[in-house]
Amino acid sequence: MHPTSAYAAPAADQPLGPRTIQRRNPGPHDVAIDIRYCGVCHSDLHTVRNEWGNTIYPCVPGHEIVGIVTAAGHEVTEFKPGDSVGVGCMVDSCGHCDSCRAGEENYCENGFTGTYNGPAIEGGHTLGGYSANIVVDDKFVLHITHQDNLAAVAPLLCAGITTYSPLRHWRVGPGKRVGIVGLGGLGHMGVKLAHAMGAEVVLFTTSPGKIADGRRLGADDVVISKDPVQMEHRHNGFDFILDTVSAPHDLDAYLVLLKREGTLCLLGAPATPHPSPAAHNLIFKRRQLAGSLIGGIRETQEMLDFCAARNIVCDIEMIAMRDINTAYERMLKRDVKYRFVIDMQTLKDATRSA
Ligand code: NAP
Ligand code: ZN
Repeated sequence: MHPTSAYAAPAADQPLGPRTIQRRNPGPHDVAIDIRYCGVCHSDLHTVRNEWGNTIYPCVPGHEIVGIVTAAGHEVTEFKPGDSVGVGCMVDSCGHCDSCRAGEENYCENGFTGTYNGPAIEGGHTLGGYSANIVVDDKFVLHITHQDNLAAVAPLLCAGITTYSPLRHWRVGPGKRVGIVGLGGLGHMGVKLAHAMGAEVVLFTTSPGKIADGRRLGADDVVISKDPVQMEHRHNGFDFILDTVSAPHDLDAYLVLLKREGTLCLLGAPATPHPSPAAHNLIFKRRQLAGSLIGGIRETQEMLDFCAARNIVCDIEMIAMRDINTAYERMLKRDVKYRFVIDMQTLKDATRSA
């Protein structure tokens, strides 16, 4: 084991602050990574504040990790020191269930190991990317081919794959009208990716101040979801809607926008349940309500390569490590354009001044 600087939440009601954690020394299949940037996902906030009721403290969040390989175990063939790599939401899975064999480790029937708050093979619980370095099994490390803007690539590791996977699964492309609900970290990648796949994209936002950005990011139209007249105008018009909202809200407002047999896919994981849907909004048009969880490793690499080929990255606001608690408050106010990314070089200053 070796000591590593990190930022951790000591309890649900306390801010994050500096903490020294222990990382395992790399085994034969491990890759040791010097973390350069880590994106800030709303799931980090849900977890830090124990909104899902399962957080183990101290909690070091962070699952949108990019960095440089510093060492690779002797069985590792795909990675070598100096490579730019990424790590997303998973660091392990059983490897033998039907889902893992199908390359859908995110649906591992024995439960995948989260990059943070999961069971660590060295004992204790996993600690994520708000840290100077990490050691990860090579099967869960991704190649980053567009290296000139590593910071803006980082959020692809969660926000990118979480939107890419359902857009592919439900065959979004030319001739399909797609709604994206919420313009935050996931939502802005949903808009960019659905547009890049050739669909007609309509953004639904509660924030009138995001209309121009929505169009710039690739939306053909933007609807203010609080305006019943604009919503009514869109009834029965969508093949697929991706809902990225992080808080409970009325799902019927979106189900009625679907055509016959259209699908509303939920990505948000609010702490308390949504107040709807009403069954008649599903049964009368054979509409479907679905959900989706990140994506498998193979598909994550496919998404990274898709983005690299089209020069798609995230729109980010870079922050210093010590600003993380303020960033969480801004995220709750829907004031993110459109993903905070921590410059991990600033971890040293944050640790020193503490
Ligand atoms: P985010 O950056 O905070 O964006 C969420 C957006 O939802 C906001 O910007 C806002 O968009 C809208 N919103 C927030 N509160 C709202 C409210 N009360 N009513 C209506 N709209 C509201 O969050 P994120 O990182 O994209 O994550 C979104 C959710 O997905 C979180 O619950 C997160 O835990 C979850 N998640 C799921 C997966 C998965 O695999 N399924 C993966 C990652 C994250 P507007 O201002 O445009 O309205
Ligand atoms: Zn995430």
